[in-house]
Amino acid sequence: MAQELLKYERQREEMVNRQIQARGIIDPNVLAAMRKVPRHLFVSEALADQAYGDFPLPIGDQQTISQPYIVAEMTQALELSGKDRVLEIGTGSGYQAAILAEIAFRVYTIERIHPLFLKARKLFDELYYHNIITRYSDGTTGWRDESPFDAIIVTAGAPKIPQVLVNQLAVGGRMVLPVGGRHAQELLKIYRDDDGIHQSSLGGCRFVKLVGEHGWTVHR
Ligand code: SAH
Repeated sequence: MAQELLKYERQREEMVNRQIQARGIIDPNVLAAMRKVPRHLFVSEALADQAYGDFPLPIGDQQTISQPYIVAEMTQALELSGKDRVLEIGTGSGYQAAILAEIAFRVYTIERIHPLFLKARKLFDELYYHNIITRYSDGTTGWRDESPFDAIIVTAGAPKIPQVLVNQLAVGGRMVLPVGGRHAQELLKIYRDDDGIHQSSLGGCRFVKLVGEHGWTVHR
């Protein structure tokens, strides 16, 4: 058991050095979180030994846990401080939410597939992530009662930027989301300030579909 933990700790260190730092991620809080969160617990036991590899992995229900570098890149782009309240759409395995929870004040995360929602919620309990608030619903409409958010991250690909989510972003807030077609998207970063909305691109990416009222419809 202790040996097993040490093995995964070493794999995490190697992951951060070779995949994350080597590709230019510099935010010390992001690097520390990636060194700390036990990613192997967010995948099935059969895949635990592959958890620190440079690729996404299946998590059931045709969904995936993102590649470690993408998680780091999106988290860094959110420019988090310890005070931020963050909204995540697409809890999935819960790994991204755990990384956010290490850095932000509080994380609100929404998942639309019930078994994934239940599994992630249980894991957050077991790992004592008391600053993660979970919800089972369509995240494309956001979480109005808890808005505005300092940061919003969408971890599934949207056909266009959901305006409802932009509206739930605080002035000074940052949002990161993949936008584009079904098979390939562009990772966008959105800033909201007094003048309105500013947008920049972080490059190409490939995510599972954001399905919901302001995303893709279920059957398409
Ligand atoms: N952040 C996750 C990535 C999971 S993949 C992780 O770290 O593992 C994307 C997830 O978004 C899937 O679980 C999918 O079911 C979910 N999703 C897609 N559309 C959604 C919606 N409208 N509301 C909430 N979750 C959604």
